[in-house]
Amino acid sequence: VAPATHVRLESRFARELPEMAVPWQAADAPEPRLLVLNEPLATELGLDPEWLRSAEGVGLLSGTLVPDDAAPVAQAYAGHQFGGFVPRLGDGRALLLGELTDAEGRLRDLHLKGSGRTPFARGGADGLAAVGPMLREYVVSEAMHALGLPTTRSLAVVATGRTVRRKTLLPGAVLARVASSHLRVGSFQYARVTDDVDLLRRLADVAIARHHPGAADADNRYLALFESVIAAQASLVARWMLVGFVHGVMNTDNTTISGETIDYGPCAFLDAFDPATVYSSIDHGGRYAYGNQPIVMEWNLARFAEALLPLLADEQEQAIGLAVGALGGFRPAYNAAWSAGMRRKLGLPEGLDDEVASSLLDDLLKLLTADRVDMTSFHRGLSGAARGAVEPTRELFLDLAGIDGWLERWRALAPDADAMDRVNPVYTPRNHLVEEALEAATDGDLGPVQQLLEAVTRPFDERPGLERYAAPAPETFGSYTTFC
Ligand code: AMP
Ligand code: MG
Ligand code: MG
Repeated sequence: VAPATHVRLESRFARELPEMAVPWQAADAPEPRLLVLNEPLATELGLDPEWLRSAEGVGLLSGTLVPDDAAPVAQAYAGHQFGGFVPRLGDGRALLLGELTDAEGRLRDLHLKGSGRTPFARGGADGLAAVGPMLREYVVSEAMHALGLPTTRSLAVVATGRTVRRKTLLPGAVLARVASSHLRVGSFQYARVTDDVDLLRRLADVAIARHHPGAADADNRYLALFESVIAAQASLVARWMLVGFVHGVMNTDNTTISGETIDYGPCAFLDAFDPATVYSSIDHGGRYAYGNQPIVMEWNLARFAEALLPLLADEQEQAIGLAVGALGGFRPAYNAAWSAGMRRKLGLPEGLDDEVASSLLDDLLKLLTADRVDMTSFHRGLSGAARGAVEPTRELFLDLAGIDGWLERWRALAPDADAMDRVNPVYTPRNHLVEEALEAATDGDLGPVQQLLEAVTRPFDERPGLERYAAPAPETFGSYTTFC
């Protein structure tokens, strides 16, 4: 069967924004082997899972077989990396294969990561990716999706048969990623530094059409675009905070216009609750610590505003005034999304007095931080306390007087235990389980990855036999560091 009959890829990005697209092709894969395929996602995209498992399908998923009409490109973007501006980053090891229309008529990017060096690859960068990190992205992004968070998706990981040199020699892989687009704040920064206002405007119009169509009707459509991205990102970061997700590398090139989470590199989920938590080996200053994420997002959105200024108004003074005014909406939007989410996690009744709720939340965070309580276990276990089984929750704390007092205040509000179980996951991709699964996969055993996926892709649904996926790491696991 010819691949073109299965896959209709458009080249809209390349056609609409050619200044930001470099036609390129994937490196070959000497011995391609499909490690994991997301069948439900394939079906959602109108792709036949059985065909994707064939040699041709695996060729598509690793970039070595390109459908007739497709025109893969490396995308250009800029970005602030740990606060320092880099005018030319771009896809150094990734390709946009093109856009698919899914079963619901939505346009989705089909993208490869780890597909070889492109003209954007810098220095000694090899353009490749290893099996472990690509499976990490697959597992964590699918866990995030199952938790209900906006995120890029993972369609497949294909081992290439190539060896990748990192600290040691590792098996290479390509991730096939699906996103509502790969437009980022860094895309706008790139267009802005070219000084080509027409390009910037075309980019903004593409972003509006694709992600924030409501903005098209506003008096100032580009200000409305900015406001829509602020709203989407305020909500997204609030949701990260509510599940304990630490992105790890919130550079502006990793901040999407769609409001999807993107780029699962050194990311991790909190175990012990502590706002200062940093997992990434390269985040020495703690810039991207768990508790800093909202402030960093606001900072990234300020960089987005700077890129948009020429579109906001003719007069720069006026444009700055509009941008600053809109950015002022980030904190209230974030705070509202976070408190509403916390109220749901605690099963609090609608219409509860704001002051009662916020003092309860403040006191809880102090107790969780002081005793470094496991975040996922606490929140899931709390519905048990609502049903009268208080002991498992008490046992998580050292300050028993503190938690007893808090539980008494909380229980007096008649929390809804069933509602809590619908928003507090049993299973998150816990660091020790992710490490164990990736290590096994690197050694050729995919069993642990499959089992972990089974747990985290139905995170709210407690099932027998999966107890160890709900339990905190053993003491022997020690402190955790991620590498990207
Ligand atoms: P990230 O921090 O993952 O968002 O990546 C930042 C930049 O580094 C992007 O331009 C990537 O394409 C590039 N990059 C990361 N790893 C590699 C690699 N192994 N080879 C080439 N480029 C890379
Ligand atoms: Mg990135
Ligand atoms: Mg990355």
